[in-house]
Amino acid sequence: VTASPPHAAAALAAALRAIVGPDHVLDVPERRAPYERDTTGRFGAPAALVVRPADTAQVAAVVAACAAAGAPLVPQGGNTGLVGAGVPRGGEVLLSLRRLDAIGAVDRERAQVEAGAGATLATLQAAAHAAGFAFGVDLAARASATVGGLVATDAAGAWALRHGTMRAQLLGLEAVLADGSRIARLSGLPQDGAGYDLAALLAGSEGTLGIVTRARLRLVPALHERVSALFALDDLTAALRLLGRLRARVPSLEAADFLLDDGVALALAHERLARFPLRRRSPAYLVIDCAAAHDPTPELAAAVEGVAEVLEVAVADDTEGRRALWRPREAQHETVAALGPPPHKLDVAVPAQALARFVEDVRAAVARLDPRWTVLQFGHLGAGNVHVNVVGPDPDDERIDVAVLELAAAAGGTIAAEHGVGVAKARFLALVRSPQELAAMRAVKRALDPQGLLNPGAVLAA
Ligand SMILES: Cc1cc2nc3c(=O)[nH]c(=O)nc-3n(C[C@H](O)[C@H](O)[C@H](O)COP(=O)(O)OP(=O)(O)OC[C@H]3O[C@@H](n4cnc5c(N)ncnc54)[C@H](O)[C@@H]3O)c2cc1C
Repeated sequence: VTASPPHAAAALAAALRAIVGPDHVLDVPERRAPYERDTTGRFGAPAALVVRPADTAQVAAVVAACAAAGAPLVPQGGNTGLVGAGVPRGGEVLLSLRRLDAIGAVDRERAQVEAGAGATLATLQAAAHAAGFAFGVDLAARASATVGGLVATDAAGAWALRHGTMRAQLLGLEAVLADGSRIARLSGLPQDGAGYDLAALLAGSEGTLGIVTRARLRLVPALHERVSALFALDDLTAALRLLGRLRARVPSLEAADFLLDDGVALALAHERLARFPLRRRSPAYLVIDCAAAHDPTPELAAAVEGVAEVLEVAVADDTEGRRALWRPREAQHETVAALGPPPHKLDVAVPAQALARFVEDVRAAVARLDPRWTVLQFGHLGAGNVHVNVVGPDPDDERIDVAVLELAAAAGGTIAAEHGVGVAKARFLALVRSPQELAAMRAVKRALDPQGLLNPGAVLAA
């Protein structure tokens, strides 16, 4: 938009004001600013303007007006994304979906609910709980992350071990395509083989194929008997062996994350963690959640009894105690932020058998590039997921990014586990996708967005 003549930009702004009302087109820098920088502080640039439609009809009209003007669009939900794809790269129209936040009545017979793209995960969870259900996805950014953003990134989180990622919760979708046309399939039929699954295609497309306006979502039973456990272990190989045992013998297993002792030490040193809940410190830890209609403690106790790998374990079944056991894991994000400069956050996954080696190789790569840099690694063990956080390199210094992504690819893993590819990793996609796959992706993109206006530069590099 900034590259187009001023009168064209002014004409587009006027057209958008006519659609959403003058209060919802933000063009002064102070009002645009909160939408222009991402949560890590690493990504963002000025937008041409921010537009905040109230409903699907307004979204469709906004997208059509931008298509007519040839103006690129960046969709944004809660702006909790970690790969730079929800903030402008410079001069785009920022399309905020947050006002589409209505949540429909829970369909109790079918265990489903419809939610607007702008509804936050926390309000969705509350609506599900009020009707006696739960929602199958949870993550720490729940207060701000939106349904549209969760679908667009195919978000996962700790519960994906049991319920799958966001795509697995999707029973239907309403979306606006790049030309402003609307597609909707919201009947909620769990079995629907009539043609291509467009909802599944849009899930994980990071705003590059369409704008999500509403989703029909599966709910799961609310399980009130909950137990958490924190295990001290010698290494990640022991953690994986223990997890394999739990998967086979503990049907109530819901989440299984790992963390490492250097991360615990940093959390304590930076006062993100008041105390560590175990008596002994060890190189690796596994923290799990079990949830069932009956008390999961006996099946958990039977599964871990006599297991040599377990050096120490703490178990809690009350809310406060459970929170204390998860606190070291949750403090990892805050510790990274407390270390100072914007971190390089790399969310990758590797096959289980390669995980322990990968974590060591990342440590060695960081030490080789600059021993003053700090690295924290933790993640969802069941998914082979590792959140690699490196603090120290300048925002534009991508040497560690390249090293970590190449290590993940070489281990047979993926460069993007749950946060998406975004702009941060777009140019590395060829590390894990064949030329044929990339050509198919580009063909889909061209078919659905021939002008290339939807979130340009995200997922597929220019
Ligand atoms: C503390 C913290 C913890 C986190 N933990 C996890 C975790 O455990 N698991 C996980 O998966 N993620 C996690 N995240 C990342 C983030 O919360 C998710 O990626 C989330 O899905 C983003 O939702 P959002 O509404 O904030 O989207 P945004 O950040 O606004 O956007 C993310 C992407 O989705 C696109 N988008 C947003 N809304 C729409 C829409 N309506 N239509 C089309 N495209 C759209 C954007 O263009 C962008 O590409 C975490 C983030 C933080 C800050």
